[in-house]
Amino acid sequence: MIVKLLLDRKREGGELAPEDIRALIDAYTRGDVPDYQMSAFAMAVCCRGMTAAETHALTDAMQHSGECLTWPGPSADKHSTGGIGDKLSLVIQPLAASCGLSVPSLAGRGLGLTGGTVDKLESIPGYNACLPLNDFRRVVAACGVSIAAQTAEIAPADKKLYALRDVTGTVPSIPLIVGSILSKKLAEGAGTLVFDVKCGSGAFMKTRPDACALARALVDGAKAAGRKAAALVTAMDEPLGRTVGNALEVEEAIAVLKGCNGQDARCPSDVVELSVELAARMVSLEKGVALDEARAACRANLANGAAYARFAEMVKLHGGDLDAFLARPRGETRIVTSSRDGFVARIDAEGIAKTAFELGAGRAKADDAIDFAAGVTLAVTRGDRVEAGQPLAELAACDHTERFAAAERLVRDAVAFTDEPPVPRQLILESLS
Ligand code: URA
Repeated sequence: MIVKLLLDRKREGGELAPEDIRALIDAYTRGDVPDYQMSAFAMAVCCRGMTAAETHALTDAMQHSGECLTWPGPSADKHSTGGIGDKLSLVIQPLAASCGLSVPSLAGRGLGLTGGTVDKLESIPGYNACLPLNDFRRVVAACGVSIAAQTAEIAPADKKLYALRDVTGTVPSIPLIVGSILSKKLAEGAGTLVFDVKCGSGAFMKTRPDACALARALVDGAKAAGRKAAALVTAMDEPLGRTVGNALEVEEAIAVLKGCNGQDARCPSDVVELSVELAARMVSLEKGVALDEARAACRANLANGAAYARFAEMVKLHGGDLDAFLARPRGETRIVTSSRDGFVARIDAEGIAKTAFELGAGRAKADDAIDFAAGVTLAVTRGDRVEAGQPLAELAACDHTERFAAAERLVRDAVAFTDEPPVPRQLILESLS
């Protein structure tokens, strides 16, 4: 393989042979291709795209750059492209396990405005997300589910390439995103993959056509690799649920897992609905049962405590202490009240994420510390009628209470009002299989 010739070919819009893509990724992983050539490759792909066959070869090469796990019996995982208040993995993974699936789930920390799934779980005192792969296998075998941090053994080529893309303006490319996400998810070894592709101001994909194109490519890529797959494209213009912030989101997820029915403000109906829809697709595809039957099983296991029992067992096996979590210091709080009467027309997801970040719930650099108690609990939701002086949100923080004034301004900017009731939000925009 002569890397320069591959770059020439891709730059001119030509198609690369699978063996050339594999050789390039293998050589890059070994350190035999320098970052400047790999950056040029990523940029050429960004500008010229890839065929389905090229994307498949890229995914396969990155998947096999590290360990690939296998599981006895039915197994599934859900992947979200990430959104504000997205605590769904904390509900869905144990819920799917309670329906008889093994759910091996390697997740990320958040770099950006709010924490990732691993950060959320680490707000539980003692929770060790950094399990060696053998312990990860042991936890899945013992309780059906483990949510752990991505390890260096899984898809190391993606770790290297993603770091390069991040600083070379080459993240927004569907083939590169598909290769990156799928290489990690395929290496986890689950038989079924369900994707939640978020779309809107608080999402990576801002427009519906882009989100649908990514969802289609993820489903097709997973199927080409021999897995069962489905995707939902879901709205991310407004936060999911009422809470944004690590410990606050775990608390909300626990309320949903304990079987609140979505009528209660602690247990928002959007979190319940989407959790059931995504978990039901995992169960339906992997066990070959009708979607309605899978939905009914998921709802039953939220109501009867089976899903919560899996979550509690997983937390225990990861060393976490849920009693200590419930008794944790909650920091200081401040209520933000409405300055006018009206209907809540919109709660901008990005604005609420900026508020949570201001309070210390996210990190700008990989080694920044997170304030697990920090975040926002919304007191209203779209369509609510409010009067001046009524609470809009509660802010919480341990470390940066001096930022309450700035955070309050951000919340006010994020909430828009109208005099007439707004049209209801459509949560699920597309369903793909
Ligand atoms: N998430 C990933 O894991 N990879 C990408 O390329 C984009 C989002």
